[in-house]
Parts: sequence; C-alpha cells; structure tokens
Amino acid sequence: MEITQQIYNRLKTWLHILLRVPFFRTTPFRLTFMYLGVFSSISAIVFGVVYISLVLHLQNLKDTVLLNSAQEYAAIYKQNGLLMLKNGFQREATSQGTDRAFFQLFSANGNTLASSDMSQWQSSDELTPDKSLSESNQPIFHLIRLHKKTSENEHNHGSNFRLISMTIDSGDVIQIGQSIELEESTLNEYQEIFSIALVIMVACGGFFGFFLARKAMMGVKRVTDTATSIGRNDLGIRVPLSDQGNDINELAQAFNGMLERIEILLGEFQQVTDNVAHELRTPITRIRGIAETTLKGNDDLGEYKEMAASIIDGCDDLIEMISTMLEIAKTDSGSVELQLVPLDLNDLIEEAVDLFAPMAEDKGITIQFKTSLSPMHQVMVNGDRRRLQRVISNLLDNAIKYTPYGGMVTLTTGMNGQYAAVMVTDTGTGIDHHDIPHIFERFYRADKSRSTAGSGLGLSLAESIVNAHHGRISVESSAQGSIFTLSLPLKHASQLNS
Ligand code: ADP
Repeated sequence: MEITQQIYNRLKTWLHILLRVPFFRTTPFRLTFMYLGVFSSISAIVFGVVYISLVLHLQNLKDTVLLNSAQEYAAIYKQNGLLMLKNGFQREATSQGTDRAFFQLFSANGNTLASSDMSQWQSSDELTPDKSLSESNQPIFHLIRLHKKTSENEHNHGSNFRLISMTIDSGDVIQIGQSIELEESTLNEYQEIFSIALVIMVACGGFFGFFLARKAMMGVKRVTDTATSIGRNDLGIRVPLSDQGNDINELAQAFNGMLERIEILLGEFQQVTDNVAHELRTPITRIRGIAETTLKGNDDLGEYKEMAASIIDGCDDLIEMISTMLEIAKTDSGSVELQLVPLDLNDLIEEAVDLFAPMAEDKGITIQFKTSLSPMHQVMVNGDRRRLQRVISNLLDNAIKYTPYGGMVTLTTGMNGQYAAVMVTDTGTGIDHHDIPHIFERFYRADKSRSTAGSGLGLSLAESIVNAHHGRISVESSAQGSIFTLSLPLKHASQLNS
C-alpha cells in the first residue's frame, strides 16, 4: 500500500515538473496528448473485443473437431470392439504426433481400458475422468496443462491441451486431448501484429496530430501576435486573414472588427475630450478676464458686484453645459431609467408654447400650434415627461433663436403609421446642407450661429432622449427655414413592442 502511495506521489511530482516545461503546456501538445489517449483507449477496446471473439471462435472450432472425433470413436467401439478402438487410437496419435494428441478410454469406475502412447507425459489428476461425468450424457470440455517427463536439470514448461470427456452408451468414457499450440501461436501473432501496428499508429498519429494541431493553432497565434503588438498609438494594426474561410478566419475578422470599433470609439472619445476642453476653456477664460479687469480697475464696490454677477452667470452656463454633457452620456449608455408614463403630446406642446410665448413675443415671432387630427384627438405615447419636455423645448428654443424678427414658428402634431409625429417648422435662417449631417453631434454649431448664444449640445441631448424612447429625429432645411420632425412610437404600438 505504502509503495503504491510512493509511486503515485513520485508520478505526481514528475508530472508537475514536466508541466513546468512551456512546450508541454502548449495547446497543440495537450490536444495531441488527449487525442492519443482517446485513440489508444479506443484501439485497446477494439483489440480486446476482436481478441476475445477470436479466442471463442478458435475454441469453438477445436471443440467441434474434438466432438466429431469422440463420436467417431464411440461408433467404432460400439461396432468393432475394443481392439479396433485401440488400433484407431494408436494410428491417429501417430499421424497427429503423440506430443500433439492423445486418446483414452476409461471404464465407468476410472480404469484405463485403452490409450494412445502417453509415455512422454507426466501423469496428471486432470486426466482422470470426473465421477459426475458418468451421470451426464453431455460431453465436457476442459483446458489442461500437461508436462513432459524430463530429467531433473531439464526445464519443462508444459503444453496446453483442449480436452473432451464424453460418456458413451456402455457407460465408459472416451477422452481425447489436442494441443492448442497452433491456436496459441495464432493469438500471439495477432498480439504482436496489433502491438506493432499500435506503436506505428500512435507514432504517426502523434506526429501528424501535433502537426495539424499546430497548424490549426497558427491562426490563434496570428491573433495573439497582433494583440500583443498593439501599443498605445498603433490601433490601426489588423490580423492578417488567410484565404481559407475557416472559423479561425472568423475569429480574426471578429477581432479586427472589435479593433475597428475600439479605434472609432477612441477617436470619438478623443474628439469629445478635445471639444470639452475647448468649450470649457472659452467661458473660463472669459470669467478670468472679467475678474482680472475688475481687479485692475478702481476699488469700486459697484464694479465688484457686477463682476460677481457676471461670474455667477458664467458659472451657471458652465454647470448647465456639464450637466447636459452628463445627461447625454448617461442617456446614451442606457444607465438612466426613463420614467415612462402615458402622455398626450398635444399637452406637452401646449405647455411648451405657453412657456416660450414671452420669448417669441420679444422677437416679434408668432408661434402657432396645429394638429392634423381632430381637435379632440389625443396623440398618446409612453414617455418620460421631463425628458420629452426638454426635447420639445430645445427644438422650440432653436426655432425661435434662429428665426429673425417677425418670423413664424409652427408646431404640428400628427400620426405616421405606428408613430406619433411632432413637427417644428420655422421661417428662420435655415441650415447649410454641409452642416446638416453634423448638427446632432456634440458641440457642433454652424458658423452662422456663432453670434447666437448656445452650447451646441441641445440637439445631441434631444437625439439621445428620442433614441432612448425608440424614436427618430430628423431635419429638412432650406433658405426659407427648417423643419425638425420628431417621431415616437404610439402608446399602443410601444405596448405591443414591450
Ligand atoms: P445650439 O446651442 O448651438 O443651438 P444645438 O445643438 O441646439 O446647439 O444646435 C446645433 C446647431 O444646429 C446650431 O448651432 C445651429 O447651427 C443649428 N440649428 C439648430 N436648430 C436650428 C434651426 N431651427 N434653424 C437653424 N439652425 C439650427
């Protein structure tokens, strides 16, 4: 028990030492090792099954021959008597070889009545017929081992014999033994051939298996090499694709796609960081300028108060800009939970119109609210009231801001299939066609809007909020003015979707 434990511990230590060698930890080696393990086990099972079937088959053949022979001698004994039987035994033993076959006849009480030449064999208890045999008419087959008579110094391995013992009508027992040397050598040959074949197959299988596993892993190595060679500034590197359309190629393509998205995201991140830095610098420089001028001026309390008020305004603008940026980031990433309630868009618009009426009046702008539906018809959506109010306010604020004195801003509600639609139309300055693709980007402001106050974040926030509601926002513009269209899933449609 202790020795087994020691061997087990020794093996475990060796395995640990072996696994420290990097080569033995590689996937191709492990794959080959596992594959060879499975392959050898299956081969051993197949060999075992074939071997057992072969043993049974050879044994059956032998038993049939022995039975036929025993029946033949029983007939001779019955018809021609003991003498003919004895002669038959002698003849057959001589023709087969007395070291390969023997024949005996026993009386019911175990005395030998006739026998072929048994002089070369040592006597054996196994040759004495069993007492129970006389009671059964069934022949009995045995496997026995006989040893030759030798001088003391000679080594004697002995030979294996298949033995049939059969009781015949007279009550006597016929016993025939035949050497199974031939069958044994057939089986040994089979074992040898199989062992050699297994060694060759394992060697070839191991070699080619390792070669194929290594080849299959080359693609993964390409991805690993590319991943390790990517530094801070060389995100442009891609895994080279092979011309075979295999799954490693798919992995390489997926990896390249991921790199591409990371590159775009980092680019956007860089852009946003640059924009934020730039947009923050301007108001902070302005605030600093005000403070500096006041400091250099007279120590007039009025001027200080004016400076404090300007600084508060500047800081408010900054706080507003930073919270809008955070709101956009949170809405885009989906980390805000929308407070969805059933809303009538007509109500939201009426509230916004009331809110912006004074501002429009100051600019001599007329705001009108139209609906393409019957006046009593509600335009219901499932929405976050505060956030949708903000979207409509931003659109209305822009429409008034970018429409000159005396213009007109029209808000229209309607339905478009499964969507509720709100259109904000103005008779303002319009947006240049090269600015249109960019106006929803963060901090983007068209050049001609620079004279008007604004942060360039209003439309970005509007788009984020609308996207979070699974809606769309779009713009059409000409020199006569702009139309912003907002589409949101109708309440029953969004209920179906949810
Ligand atoms: P801003 O604070 O500059 O208004 P927005 O994100 O709300 O930022 O708008 C981005 C830009 O889109 C504006 O700077 C302006 O150039 C353009 N824009 C938005 N609405 C209108 C409009 N109704 N008429 C003309 N230009 C508009």
